[in-house]
Amino acid sequence: MDRRGLLIILSSPSGAGKSTLAGRLREWDPSIRFSVSATTRAPRPGEEDGDHYHFVGEDAFKRMVAEGDMLEHAFVFGNFYGSPRGPVEDAINDGCDVLFDIDWQGAQQIANSALKDHVLRIFVLPPSIAELRRRLEARAQDDADTIARRMTRSWDEISHWDAYDYVLVNDDLDKTAATLETIISAERLRRAQQPGLMEHVRGLQAEFEEGS
Ligand code: ADP
Ligand code: 5GP
Repeated sequence: MDRRGLLIILSSPSGAGKSTLAGRLREWDPSIRFSVSATTRAPRPGEEDGDHYHFVGEDAFKRMVAEGDMLEHAFVFGNFYGSPRGPVEDAINDGCDVLFDIDWQGAQQIANSALKDHVLRIFVLPPSIAELRRRLEARAQDDADTIARRMTRSWDEISHWDAYDYVLVNDDLDKTAATLETIISAERLRRAQQPGLMEHVRGLQAEFEEGS
């Protein structure tokens, strides 16, 4: 394997631009796999089971947690959400990065897991609270009550910004997407992401000793 996959975690208050940026990353490098979370919340119009989320009942969710099948899980907006472990382990063993759109609680759990050396945490901030509200309204996905709830919760999410490796202010979308690509390109070169390096250095050593 040339490289091990990174666990790329994107968090932000709702409306700051995570999904849009994730879509840009998908176009930039189609080999990046998306972690499809399981949730107990009901699907919204247009959401497909297995695509946006795995929609499961509370019993099934709790069973997955009890059996150790969740890499992390949290209670958000009155529902359970969690990242199934199997697809993530398969992806990184195949040398593919995995992108997570999860909240700060999930980011913290993954950063404390056995996979912690391969985690990249990125937080996306809005340019202003007024712009965050404008984006939620412009997205036209939620009713006024849901937008109000998301806005109330946004400070809770923002207050965890300093637990992340990188923090991006998503003002200009093209610029933020380009910065994200630069960060991922650099992080892929971390020593821990390149398992083949040891063998390469051993080869250099053997060559060096033969010649001396
Ligand atoms: P999140 O996934 O964080 O909830 P979205 O990606 O759905 O947020 O973005 C919310 C809305 O803001 C969408 O309508 C999206 O097109 C828009 N948006 C995202 N990034 C920007 C940006 N940099 N400038 C202006 N609008 C943006
Ligand atoms: P939504 O219901 O709007 O899709 O998501 C609500 C929130 O739950 C978002 O902040 C999203 O990042 C978070 N979330 C989605 N999936 C997961 C998950 O698997 N684990 C955790 N911890 N949070 C998640």
